[in-house]
Amino acid sequence: MQSISYQEWIDNIIKPDQVAKYLNQGQDFINEELINEALLTNRNPAKTRLREIIAKALELQRLEPDETAALLNCQDEEIWQEMYQVGYQIKEKVYGRRIVTFAPLYVSNHCVNSCVYCGFRSENGETIRHQLSMEEVEAEVAALVQQGHKRLIMVYGEHPASDVHYIAETLVRAYNTKVGNGEIRRVNINAAPMSVEDLEILREVGIGTFQVFQETYHHKSYQRLHPKGIKANYHWRLYSLHRAMEAGVDDVGIGALFGLYDWQFEVMGLLLHTIDLEQKFGGVGPHTISVPRIEPAVNTPFTQKSRYLVDDDSFKKLVTVIRLSVPYTGIILTARERAEVRNEVIKVGCTQLDAGSNIGIGGYAHDRLDYNRQQFILGDNRSLDEMIRDLTKMGFITSFCTADYRCGRTGECFMNITKQGKIHNLCMPNAILTFKEYLLDYASPETKAEASYLINKELMALPNEQVREKVSGMLERIEAGERDLFL
Ligand code: SAM
Ligand code: SF4
Repeated sequence: MQSISYQEWIDNIIKPDQVAKYLNQGQDFINEELINEALLTNRNPAKTRLREIIAKALELQRLEPDETAALLNCQDEEIWQEMYQVGYQIKEKVYGRRIVTFAPLYVSNHCVNSCVYCGFRSENGETIRHQLSMEEVEAEVAALVQQGHKRLIMVYGEHPASDVHYIAETLVRAYNTKVGNGEIRRVNINAAPMSVEDLEILREVGIGTFQVFQETYHHKSYQRLHPKGIKANYHWRLYSLHRAMEAGVDDVGIGALFGLYDWQFEVMGLLLHTIDLEQKFGGVGPHTISVPRIEPAVNTPFTQKSRYLVDDDSFKKLVTVIRLSVPYTGIILTARERAEVRNEVIKVGCTQLDAGSNIGIGGYAHDRLDYNRQQFILGDNRSLDEMIRDLTKMGFITSFCTADYRCGRTGECFMNITKQGKIHNLCMPNAILTFKEYLLDYASPETKAEASYLINKELMALPNEQVREKVSGMLERIEAGERDLFL
């Protein structure tokens, strides 16, 4: 690959000057005193205050730390019920009754790091390691295209063999894989933090969203859970998405791994992260927030014994508070969660779900479920078709739309469109069009029967008559065999 040694590669990853410029007298924006103070002073919030904050959220205004802290401290079940409903309403106002669907594609599980909760950590001798060749990438992508997928999140361990050049090559290969009418139209990436220069390489080859989860925002816990390796550097990770924005990758995804530390603290951390990105990048915050919860992993006892594991009720609450706090950010709810949890939590305002997921390396092409190749164990094993049928029953249309990215509607531009509410004239029509394609090309007869009525219902619900007519004409063209039509 390159002439430098393994250790040199590790030593050269972190570029201190790309972090120092963001620090304020050595301090980052996760001000723990401020978080703890906000959580403490906003204890036992009055009903009237909570209702004022909920009303502000419903007007689609981003909340301030004290307001989010008050919601997190709510002890009143009646108010929680109101928050669940408002979460749904916010989602409907900003995103419509649509859910964006994608599949995770695990590409390499070699890793130099030692995250105590992860099955891929370097010390875990029970994990079978593999890195996909380009032919294997193509086979995996082809299997996903044949299910009907249009969006991927490609996932990598951190290792010299899967450096940025390898990642870029796999991304190009994924975009170039065509099967019949099908192809992947957007590839997002979840990988280790990179330098600005490396992120520019990924921008050049068409990365969608770049995701990096901070895991825990709590400094001391972070240090304990990432005892060595590149990932031990909290600041390199914390500013990874600032660097992505600098590199022109303007859709970024943040997240916290719930179960590592107090969930209320982590929600405050996500909010402060959002605010800092907004402040530094002209009002553009993260495109998505992910809310993974720790799942069991092979030979990884920490996943069951952490004292901060989050129960289902608290999980629903934390997702709701995030929804109310940052109305313009998508929320990703992964198949880590059991189907019944997903069906419940989706109603409080999630926007993206993976489906038909297999997180074993090489799992799609070989149709194999092998725990020793997985980072953790999934809770929801529904196929894409089953998931779509269930979403249909709940009144959600599944969107495979990737038009925003392909028309350059990302970052600031995407935020402005979203904030002006125009998304209903673009995203709902495109959801209808891509859903129609899915039903024609991939759906089972049962799903087709369940879902066809939704297309008509949502078409009739489009508020703008001209848009409605245009979409109606495009649906006829799709019936006649055209594909990839969007506004
Ligand atoms: N290796 C890169 C990194 O750590 O940033 C890429 C992503 S890692 C393969 C994907 C994410 O999985 C991690 O950021 C972490 O939040 C999550 N994860 C790790 N172990 C997990 C577990 N046991 N249960 C649930 N999620 C886990
Ligand atoms: Fe490696 Fe990422 Fe797993 Fe940590 S979470 S061990 S960095 S794959």
